[in-house]
Amino acid sequence: ISATPAVTPAATIAITVVGSVNLDLVARGSRLPLPGETVTGATFARHPGGKGANQALAAQRLGAAVRLIAAVGRDSAADEAMTLLHSGGVDLQHCWHDDRQPTGVALVSVATGGENQIMVAPGANACLTPPRLPDDLGASVICQLEVPLETVCAVAARQPEFLCLNLAPAQPLPHATLATASLIVVNETEAAFFGTELDHCPGLIATTHGARGATLHQHGCQIATALPPTVAVLDTTGAGDAFVAALTLALLEGQPADVALHFACAAGAFATTRHGAQPALPTRREVLELLGRP
Ligand code: ADP
Repeated sequence: ISATPAVTPAATIAITVVGSVNLDLVARGSRLPLPGETVTGATFARHPGGKGANQALAAQRLGAAVRLIAAVGRDSAADEAMTLLHSGGVDLQHCWHDDRQPTGVALVSVATGGENQIMVAPGANACLTPPRLPDDLGASVICQLEVPLETVCAVAARQPEFLCLNLAPAQPLPHATLATASLIVVNETEAAFFGTELDHCPGLIATTHGARGATLHQHGCQIATALPPTVAVLDTTGAGDAFVAALTLALLEGQPADVALHFACAAGAFATTRHGAQPALPTRREVLELLGRP
């Protein structure tokens, strides 16, 4: 493609992310345990995570001014989970510490081949109920499905000018909510879950296919397709979150669909080149360099 987004966007885009904050506890071992089995010899790491937090930080690094609406516990895991959001400059004024629930945790087991198993304890994320939403959500909002679905529906009912719904993890949602989205993002598993229902939504539907890139559909017709640049893949965690943030931002900047999709694929690809989700999220300059446009 001939065009890429400018290194410095014409104006700073404001985005509100309504979503989850988790602490990811990751054990890497030779293989995954069977039910009831213990596998020893693994190595351990802790990473800030949660799709809401990841997407908020991704959009902020790419040049947006991001506000995150989220709930964490009143515990030390909260500080750890929010460290990179703090240092990254995400507006956290609408994040609060819930007294009853612990910070959300994802227990992640990864085998040598990359196969994983994840169990999530949402904790405080379950406290992000509709009454917790601020009166003014702003014009552009991103949601995922790691917070109560009634909250996602309440955000959609407010009809923000631009709503991106990342349907992860896949769960049934009222059609009216899906139909409000300007942009829906799904990976292959989520696309299979929703099937042809998404063809009946008026917004853009982006489907990601890992190393095979992504497609953009509207009303069941393909309007753009993009391949990611070739990269040395280290850890694919966070690739989908970088993609969601980058596509939303590029579309809000008014980039044409194919330019926005290439930008998003490059952001996703970059995120696979470093360990963890949040430490791997690229800046705008890093994405443009990967696209060959320093
Ligand atoms: P998710 O992490 O949500 O399952 P995908 O695996 O489809 O999402 O990845 C999202 C995007 O990240 C892809 O469209 C692609 O641009 C990029 N990506 C993911 N895996 C790779 C890879 N192995 N090589 C290059 N780019 C990748």
